[in-house]
Amino acid sequence: MDLTTLAVHAGEGAVPPSERPVSTPIYASSTFVPASAGALDQIAAGAAPGYMYGRYAQPTATALEAAVLALETAGAGGAPAVCLSFASGMAALHAAILASGVSRGDVVLCAEEIYGATLALLRDLLAPLGLQLATAPVMDAAALAAALQRRPRLLIAEAISNPLLRVPDLSALAQAAHAVGAKLLVDATFATPLLCRPLSQGADFSVHSATKYIAGHGDTVAGVVTAAAAEAAGLAAARKLAGGVLAPFEAWLTLRGVKTLPLRVRRQCESAAEIAAELAHWPEIEAVHYPGLASHPDHAVARRQFSAQPGAQNTAQDCALYGGVLAFALPGAGRDQVFAFLDRLQLCLHATSLGDVQSLISYPVISSHREVSPRQRQRLGIGENLLRLSVGLEAPADLLADLRQALAALA
Ligand code: PLP
Repeated sequence: MDLTTLAVHAGEGAVPPSERPVSTPIYASSTFVPASAGALDQIAAGAAPGYMYGRYAQPTATALEAAVLALETAGAGGAPAVCLSFASGMAALHAAILASGVSRGDVVLCAEEIYGATLALLRDLLAPLGLQLATAPVMDAAALAAALQRRPRLLIAEAISNPLLRVPDLSALAQAAHAVGAKLLVDATFATPLLCRPLSQGADFSVHSATKYIAGHGDTVAGVVTAAAAEAAGLAAARKLAGGVLAPFEAWLTLRGVKTLPLRVRRQCESAAEIAAELAHWPEIEAVHYPGLASHPDHAVARRQFSAQPGAQNTAQDCALYGGVLAFALPGAGRDQVFAFLDRLQLCLHATSLGDVQSLISYPVISSHREVSPRQRQRLGIGENLLRLSVGLEAPADLLADLRQALAALA
């Protein structure tokens, strides 16, 4: 055999399959050799499980999907469900929207309080292809009921909205959507599977930007969709044909994140609650938004809905978790003062993301809500002085000290 041939094949298959590694390997293989031509035929027909091409499915991603599925359906004991991973949260949202069965002429109703890119996906990419986009404030029952009169095929909302952390009653949303024949897609990125498992609340699709809490270390971009098993074919087709597949290394990083997700998120929730409570007393800060504060308009819903114990409701204040993100305003501050504040921060990193081990702060009017008109921002309550803080794993006292020293610069 020529050395060239040898170099291509040498070493492959040398590791005996009986030695099970404790960590799922990164299957960096773009294609797979089935046991026989007949086996490949079966896999291609969907009649047998297995792998044939990396854009269709690959083993590292399968392990991640099984892990997320286990968390998302924990305690549900309901109908069979599936989870598929994607190259990003946006790819996951795109696939879930396509898999929902919407087609030309159908109305898609989207919460007003939604991530800007989700709205842009619907408005700029899907509406020109024939979907009719409508928006409604899902926190306003009357306005939502009026919007549902248009009989949408799909309703899209977030389990915790950005940046004001509004928490819709998901069971009520599911009921209202199903009553008019619409499916409900919940983006549960901010809530994480620790707090909220939307399928058990009646949602048809649960989507996460796994870039955030699930991966959690600021080192990868990924997305996941969990849905009833009946949606599997639609999701798989959207992934296979649009090609937004998660690569093996990114799948591995995300799977590693899953292992510490409950520990990280619990701690982040506790720290966020502590920081929110403290900031609520600082005269240099106004309007702290955090669902864990009794002053938050959705405190009761969040308390009832979020539970780290699958199948159980929160019963005591001290076991309730309300998320790791809070927002606050700097009284009377304009952009220059907000910029000065951000530039003085040392521990809280001014960066566009959330859910990482590092605390990340963002200024919505120049990031997530940059494309939203000033008038609409004002209507949504997103002021020029509003900041969003995603609390990391640092000690709350250190984070508060960082915020205080940066505030001192403004005084
Ligand atoms: N959904 C929410 C709530 C988000 O905050 C984001 C990103 O910030 C996305 C979806 C998109 O996720 P990704 O950036 O992984 O595509």
